[in-house]
Amino acid sequence: MTDIKVKTLGGVKMLYDRSSAADYGVGGVPFAPNMNQAFAQECDKAFKEMFDEMQKHTGLKPKLILSGGVSRAGSGKSLHHKNRAFDLDGLLFDDGTNWVANTFPQRRQIYLGMEAVLRRYFGVVLAYDYNRAHEDHFHFDDGLAPGLSTRAKSHVIFLQNVVTFVYHTPVGRDGVWGSETSEAVVAVRNEMGIGGLSQLANWKQFLSRVAVDAFKNEAGRVGDVVIPEPEVCHCCGQVIPA
Ligand SMILES: [Zn+2]
Ligand SMILES: [Zn+2]
Repeated sequence: MTDIKVKTLGGVKMLYDRSSAADYGVGGVPFAPNMNQAFAQECDKAFKEMFDEMQKHTGLKPKLILSGGVSRAGSGKSLHHKNRAFDLDGLLFDDGTNWVANTFPQRRQIYLGMEAVLRRYFGVVLAYDYNRAHEDHFHFDDGLAPGLSTRAKSHVIFLQNVVTFVYHTPVGRDGVWGSETSEAVVAVRNEMGIGGLSQLANWKQFLSRVAVDAFKNEAGRVGDVVIPEPEVCHCCGQVIPA
């Protein structure tokens, strides 16, 4: 399969934000990676859909993609060696704000909305709760076709996060498919009027609904973490006890 030089994905240019630690999540150098052509086409579609849905439901318009890279030297097992894997670190928006992958604990809705769209296109998506190595980026590749595998830890954790955070039905987030998770997922998909998720069409429809609902939650989010400054008396400067 041929590789092509990719200048934009979803119509958005890229920066490589790993050439200096200070760049992570905020900036970087221009990035136009060589990518496997079929993989690049799927990435283009996935980012376009992600950005369209994100803009429609959150108002955030991406102007740059921050990537941790595509290629890796050598010939290991990772699809990075074949230019069929992408590491997504962050996004810069046109309003001057950003999204960074390591903010999943503070900003779960936008994260899960993005992850839902990625899972519509890729069978392999490794995210924050998968392991420590993926706390600072989404890894996705086309090593497996899209589709739900209830035996895959990364898939099950995604569903557990979705029912817990997007649909407010807390379940154990252990990556293991059990009756608690299964019942919660069935309840959510029944509410949506969607059939069994082992069918690809249902899985993709479910993921689209999750993306919309998560992005809407992101837009309506109230209560950013603010560290209150102590109140100080204007005349003597002493801290007023709360
Ligand atoms: Zn990767
Ligand atoms: Zn005073």
